[in-house]
Amino acid sequence: MTPISSLSRSDLAAWLAERSQPGYRAAQVKGWLGRGAGSFADMHDLPAALRAELAGSFRLSSLDPVLQSSADGGATTKVLYQLDGGYTVEAVVMRYPGRSTLCISSQVGCPVGCPFCATGQGPFGRNLKSWEIVDQAVDAARRLTEEGRRLSHVVFMGMGEPMANYAAVVDSVRALADADLLGISPRRVVISTAGLVPRIGQLAGEGLPVTLAISLHAARDELRDVLVPINRKYPLGELVPAARDFAARSGRRVSYEWVVLAGVNDTDRDAEELGRLLEPRLAHVNLIPFNPVNGTPYQAPDRRSVKAFAERIRSHGLNVTIRDTRGREADAACGQLRARAIREGAATA
Ligand code: SAH
Ligand code: SF4
Repeated sequence: MTPISSLSRSDLAAWLAERSQPGYRAAQVKGWLGRGAGSFADMHDLPAALRAELAGSFRLSSLDPVLQSSADGGATTKVLYQLDGGYTVEAVVMRYPGRSTLCISSQVGCPVGCPFCATGQGPFGRNLKSWEIVDQAVDAARRLTEEGRRLSHVVFMGMGEPMANYAAVVDSVRALADADLLGISPRRVVISTAGLVPRIGQLAGEGLPVTLAISLHAARDELRDVLVPINRKYPLGELVPAARDFAARSGRRVSYEWVVLAGVNDTDRDAEELGRLLEPRLAHVNLIPFNPVNGTPYQAPDRRSVKAFAERIRSHGLNVTIRDTRGREADAACGQLRARAIREGAATA
């Protein structure tokens, strides 16, 4: 059965008009989905016959939750969803005082294949449809509503490379902003990319005030070619100007992600190279201590060395923060719950 989320606003309006329903019904249906209705029958202000017809024509979600895990005393929860066709993806909710952030997936697997990343280890499956991305947020919003919370922020830092599924990602950002559905402003959305330079330029032209995060991880091509293999196609000399141009056109500071791999990219030399590469005014560096992944040769750094590395970067005038290690027990870094589920036979690739 077709998921209702796969209908665009105008498709839904047309479906309702064919049934002689007034124009405001589309907003009512979207509103119920955004508020986390568990079924069409729950949509009390719709006529009973319409509710029955909706239930006979559509599924409420394109996603089927198959596995969950939780960490940080319940502050971090992760859900593995089965998609149509059998693939699985995961989404993580992180609860903070006053805000709740969803880490969303845009692809099954990832074609970029970074050697430290659980998602990058497996084969690439497929792109998610825009509504499969949005339904992760709708499901998270429903779960949060039950706790008296609101989904406030979305980060494209789950499985996949969002810029390699560009059209669906941009459509999903617009759909998340729909005030009738979730009303999550693009200002509260972060798109993280390994650095697909032409798409960064295209995104700058969309007029969407999202935050761009660049997964840098190395400030010299020789190392970045290994850690983020797409660097061989779009080297630092093209990536950094593209990010700078995005910042200039959007007026929004770009954030640079740096997974700290002990002894690999946390040396004095790395801090110096980074200091030379970035312009303090327009950049913000976010250090992410490596969350160990089975089968990779990398080690997590200890807290002290991450702090020392942050200090060294700061001494070059750059703004630096250290990401907390939320969700370690929830296998929360990028593809790790799915990797465990596949290992344990609880899910298929
Ligand atoms: N493909 C995009 C978005 C998903 S990954 C990108 O690479 O930017 C989101 C972030 O998680 C990236 O910065 C990525 O490098 C980081 N990441 C991946 N695996 C990790 C791990 N095992 N530990 C810590 N961070 C990781
Ligand atoms: Fe893909 Fe991002 Fe993982 Fe690299 S870090 S393999 S780009 S999901």
